[in-house]
Amino acid sequence: MSRDALTLCEECDLLQRIPPLPESAAAHCARCGHLLHRHRPNSIDRTLALTLAGLVLFIIANSFPFLSFEMQGQTTQTTLISGVRDLAAQGKGEVAAVVLFTSILAPGLQLLLLAVVLFPLRLGAGLPPGFPTLFRWFKTLVPWGMMDVFMIGILVSVVKLADMATIVPGTALFAFVALIFVLAAAQAALDPDVVWERVPMPANLRRMPAAGEAVIGCDVCELTVPEREALLDRRGRLRCPRCTDVLHHRKPQSLQRTWALVLAAAVFYIPANLYPVMSVTSLGRTQSDTIFSGVVFLLTHGMWPLAAIVFVASIFVPLLKLLILIFLLLSVQLRSRWRPRDRTRLYRVTEAIGRWSMVDVYVVTILVALVHLGNLASIEARAGAVFFCAVVIITMLAAMSFDPRMIWDALPTEPQPEHDGHPRAAH
Ligand SMILES: [Zn+2]
Ligand SMILES: [Zn+2]
Repeated sequence: MSRDALTLCEECDLLQRIPPLPESAAAHCARCGHLLHRHRPNSIDRTLALTLAGLVLFIIANSFPFLSFEMQGQTTQTTLISGVRDLAAQGKGEVAAVVLFTSILAPGLQLLLLAVVLFPLRLGAGLPPGFPTLFRWFKTLVPWGMMDVFMIGILVSVVKLADMATIVPGTALFAFVALIFVLAAAQAALDPDVVWERVPMPANLRRMPAAGEAVIGCDVCELTVPEREALLDRRGRLRCPRCTDVLHHRKPQSLQRTWALVLAAAVFYIPANLYPVMSVTSLGRTQSDTIFSGVVFLLTHGMWPLAAIVFVASIFVPLLKLLILIFLLLSVQLRSRWRPRDRTRLYRVTEAIGRWSMVDVYVVTILVALVHLGNLASIEARAGAVFFCAVVIITMLAAMSFDPRMIWDALPTEPQPEHDGHPRAAH
């Protein structure tokens, strides 16, 4: 599959032509460095094979024992869903829903959607009905699948319980670990362009925009739409002629939404760190743990690499993310022209690191599922976990609602030789 098309960069809105790429080569934006396109050979076959393998692993991971907890002759056996069920039973339904969605539903639905779209394509039956919606859901779900973060949560939990009991991994755990890699490989093998190109389109949309003509980049299918060719819906909004999603020059109310979410997260950050996230009852004695005392526990037990991971993920990352977003928001509002490329990089960092903060939420989930032997030993989720979970989700939403193209809007518009601008090709 080769491609020679005009593309608007998602992150800085520069219009540029992507030359046909050799196998596995990637084209990056000439201005901000964003990955515009990577040529992935045999995309449909490889993605489908990995998806089917992933579905099998997903079923195993959800039907067999996940971890067992053995203490003084008593055994608790858990499955992947146990933690969700126990959190809900302890009145922490919000956290249970987030854990269910990020560790089970989002990865499972991604695999299902890929299979539903790619299987008919592979058989030569064309695209399934409702294809653009299915593929849009897939794209939306990707950042919410957090099995890799869950895995770190398992490691931390096992270390925490090592003094107290024996933890035995079950069949499902091995399938779960394999699934992390298979799903990542499926996402990496997928070239969405190859699929979108199968959507029949009128010839006038395939035309190159004239010099200086207004164009909008579709956020979903990444088609560069000349504004005159966009569809108009009943509410007067422009829609993409290929995927029918609403077209925006910029994410709607990006500044207001991001500010609102940043402030909400900053408020929740305080109780998230002050209140205990869980309480541990052992031999009749109850002790509460905040996020910080959890870090101290790991440190005093000589587990400094894990202590460092939890400290960075739970305390440092949310704060850093909020500070970076506030800095970016202010720089956009002051129409700063300072280092737009570096500010775009900072934005990418906030998008990439946010999900790792979920680690502590997963630790609480796993511990709650494993340890309930009444007065002998039991662990209960507390209010801090709810606030902390809210901080992670809200900061992720804040980063998603920020539009990095605003960083570039303050720069003087360059004369428009951009139609012939070639992005850097890198291997
Ligand atoms: Zn760019
Ligand atoms: Zn589209």
